[in-house]
Amino acid sequence: MTTIAFIGLGNMGGPMAGNLVKAGHNVLGFDLVPAALEAARARGVVLADSAKAAVATAEVVVTMLPSGKHVIAATTGAEGLFEAAKPGTLFIDSSTIDVASARAFHEAAKAAGHASVDAPVSGGVGGAEAATLTFMVGGADAAFGAARPLLELMGKKIVHCGGAGAGQAAKICNNMILGISMIAVSEAFVLGEKLGLSHQALFDVASTSSGQCWSLTTYCPVPGPVPASPANRGYQPGFAAALMLKDLKLSQEAADASGAATALGAAATALYTAFAAEGNEGKDFSGIIEWVRTRDDT
Ligand code: NAD
Repeated sequence: MTTIAFIGLGNMGGPMAGNLVKAGHNVLGFDLVPAALEAARARGVVLADSAKAAVATAEVVVTMLPSGKHVIAATTGAEGLFEAAKPGTLFIDSSTIDVASARAFHEAAKAAGHASVDAPVSGGVGGAEAATLTFMVGGADAAFGAARPLLELMGKKIVHCGGAGAGQAAKICNNMILGISMIAVSEAFVLGEKLGLSHQALFDVASTSSGQCWSLTTYCPVPGPVPASPANRGYQPGFAAALMLKDLKLSQEAADASGAATALGAAATALYTAFAAEGNEGKDFSGIIEWVRTRDDT
């Protein structure tokens, strides 16, 4: 049994911490929101009075926080968790954050004598509940080896992507593909509508032809062809447009910093920015097809 501090018990962190409890670990949790604490307690997480109190006796610390600034603020500095933890603690950051903050997280962990991995996830709240997340991990071999058995309790596929920040890099590259491909599929359905093509006919052709992709075959943005997709329930998330926009912005920050040309990534970011600004942040990201449909070019 390992003593694990879990900081950030929100939509993802709560069920992930619960899966560590189910596996028999001693999980000490902390969050700023009382409702998140109560939900975690119901999953068997032992509540700590503060994040510092939670990490003081832990062998492993998992953070699942909104963004890079939250992770850096919580972990670094004289009042941070790296200072509060016993030397040699393993820190696993599973938040989706910018690559620069992820590298700063690793450097500060190392300076404080800790091991660390960045280990963002895909699979959403359903994957967090069912312990079927994919973990994309960056960090040294030894830290990855130590983290892996715990990640396997929360996920199904664990990929070591490389050194510090490589997990975050893989996450934002993947989600840039996703954002672009959802817009591509949406535009194709809207063009098909204008040309008198039924949704099912386009789906039957494209899903077995070279237009095949996850945004079409698993997450189809029109109701009908894929009954489980959010289009069949009024675009309730799923994966909210606000989160897609967050990840696209991270991809563009990384593209600017590294000098990569991502014209379609930039266009997808602009389109999701406009979609979100019209009150759609809370809708599933596949709802962008409704917005595309209103952009009549005639
Ligand atoms: P969330 O907002 O539900 O949870 C974040 C939690 O962190 C909140 O409960 C908040 O109170 C807590 N928090 C913030 N600062 C804190 C601090 N200093 N100490 C303790 N707790 C603190 O978000 P979420 O949906 O659980 O997502 C968490 C991360 O996972 C994000 O980076 C998100 O981009 C990523 N992610 C989310 C999904 C998804 O489908 N929700 C999928 C993949 C990745």
